[in-house]
Formats: sequence, C-alpha cells, structure tokens
Amino acid sequence: MMKAILYSDWEKLELVDLPEPKPSAGEVLIKVGHVGICGSEIECVVQKHPRRQPPLIMGHEFAGTVVELGEGVTKLKVGQQVAVNPIIGCWKCRWCQQGRPNLCERRKLLSMQLPGAFAEFVVAPAENCHPLLEGMTTREGAFVEPVANAVHALRLAQTVLPDRVIVFGAGPIGLVCAQVARAFGATFIAIVEVLQQRIEFAKQFADVVINPKVEDLATRVKEVTENLGFDLALDAVGRSITRRLAVESVHPMGVVIWVGLHEDETTLPGMQIIYGEKVIKGSSAYTDADFATALKLVAAGKVKVNKMIHEFPLEQGVDVFWKLARSEAPEVVKALLRP
Ligand SMILES: [Zn+2]
Ligand SMILES: [Zn+2]
Repeated sequence: MMKAILYSDWEKLELVDLPEPKPSAGEVLIKVGHVGICGSEIECVVQKHPRRQPPLIMGHEFAGTVVELGEGVTKLKVGQQVAVNPIIGCWKCRWCQQGRPNLCERRKLLSMQLPGAFAEFVVAPAENCHPLLEGMTTREGAFVEPVANAVHALRLAQTVLPDRVIVFGAGPIGLVCAQVARAFGATFIAIVEVLQQRIEFAKQFADVVINPKVEDLATRVKEVTENLGFDLALDAVGRSITRRLAVESVHPMGVVIWVGLHEDETTLPGMQIIYGEKVIKGSSAYTDADFATALKLVAAGKVKVNKMIHEFPLEQGVDVFWKLARSEAPEVVKALLRP
C-alpha cells in the first residue's frame, strides 16, 4: 500500500492508502521524491472545473527515483533519478508527429486523465522520464515542469530579440518566465504585480517591479524603455485586464505571449494591434525539447528554483492545498510535497 492524496469528490481532498501501481510494458514505477502543487490544480478544484474530475490523484510537477522497470524498458535503470514530462501524446496525429504533443487532442496528462504524483509512487512512460543532471536533486527536478512552460513561451516569442521584457504576475510561472527570459538574453526585465509580499520577493528577479495600483503603468513603461515600449510581454496572470495591459506595454511589432489561464473572455485594443502590427500568441505547456532545455537551465542554476520552494511532508498536503486555495500562505511561492 502507499499514501496518496486523493481528490475524492468535488471540493474534497483526503490522505488515503491505495495499492501501489504496477508499471506496464514501456513504463516505470517511480518513488516520488518531490511534487509541486500547481496553481492550475488549485483553480480546478476551487472552480469544480471538468478538466479535472474526481476521483483523481493530481500532481504533475515531480521528480523521483526509478524503482521498477516495466517490460521492454532499456533506457532507464533502477535507482536512477528522473524528472517526468507528464504530457503523453497519441504519437499518431499531425501535432504529435511534429513533436508537439502539447497540441494533441488525445493527449493525456499524468494527474488529469492518469494518476499523478501526490503519492508515494507513480507510474510513467519511460519515454517521458528525463534523468536528472549531475548535482541535481529531486527538489530541483520537481521544478523542471514549470520552467518548461516558460521555456516554451520564450521560444514562441523568438520572432524578435527579447531585449526588454515585461512579465505580468509574480507567481511561480511569472518568476520563472522572468528568469528564463534573462537566460535567453533579455537585458532588462520588468515584473508587474499588485500583491505587496510578491512585489518584495520579485525584486530579486527583475530590474524593476511595477505595481499598477499605485503607479500608472503606461507612464512607467515609457520611463523605463526610453519611450519605446517593451519588445516582449508575457502574461502569466490571464485576466482580461493583464492581457490588455500586456498588449499596451509592447512597441509596434512587439510580441505578446499569453500563458495565464485565469479568465477566458478578453477585450483588447484592436486599433492598437492593427496600427502597431502587434503579435499575440498563446502558449500551452511545452514540448519534450522544451522540457529538456528546462532541465539544463535548472541544473545550471539559471533559474533559481530553490529560492522559490517551500517544502512540506505529503501528510500536510491537504492542509497546504486548502491554505493556498484560500490565499492564506502568501509567503509560499511554490509548495513542494515530499512523500
Ligand atoms: Zn502546472
Ligand atoms: Zn497526438
């Protein structure tokens, strides 16, 4: 038997004992070392979103140790530590064949259609396992997934040199986007945030942190960009207002990448997009190549994941999850559970 956090019914999470899963052909059994709680999981539970249906074990940001090999697995060894890309494509459709399982209509996500890693053990396809690099721990390995989201967003932006970059939102994805932008060559980074605690914390990852509740964003954008506007804006919030502000913050031909998922409907300044020839792109998850790049960035210390982590034992997971859902733990940037 193993301990797991089960999303057992709408709005209900509980610590339970479940049978250990068995790896099928091509899969491995992983003893989970660390697993992150993702904002998307919290939002799904709070909103009773049909994307995640109970009963379900969530947890898609994880790393651990391979403890058993399914039939035919030769590329991994028992005892090896891995970070796991949780997206499983059909490998048959045009998107999968292009190496874009993130766009596959039949893709499955460990933690959504398949059991995730809020548990002592989880099964994953060997193909999805990336061995941790020299000196990396599973604590850092669990952060590769969020970093992969940022790598994908930055790669989509490569139509311009992202010299000056503005990031909306100083949650885990926003902070990671800022650091990946820096790693990809950005020379000036602004973060936009309204929560005081997050503003203070974000200062170490940006050249300037702007609070649009106390200063006029358009004025500040002009001040810090020599009147030009930013080359690239990344929205890691996903509200109608932040998507709009992101569009307004870039110069003509500037690129705007939307990552945040908070709202669906959005109003935009159409004339500005036309006259300024601005580009807006959505960014969804990552490819396996992005995941591999993220692993290298974390291993090289280009993304300072340890500063953002608060660890808790799995037994406290339910409690921590609800605290985060009720915004009662603003000091926690990214909660990692340790089964
Ligand atoms: Zn996530
Ligand atoms: Zn597919």
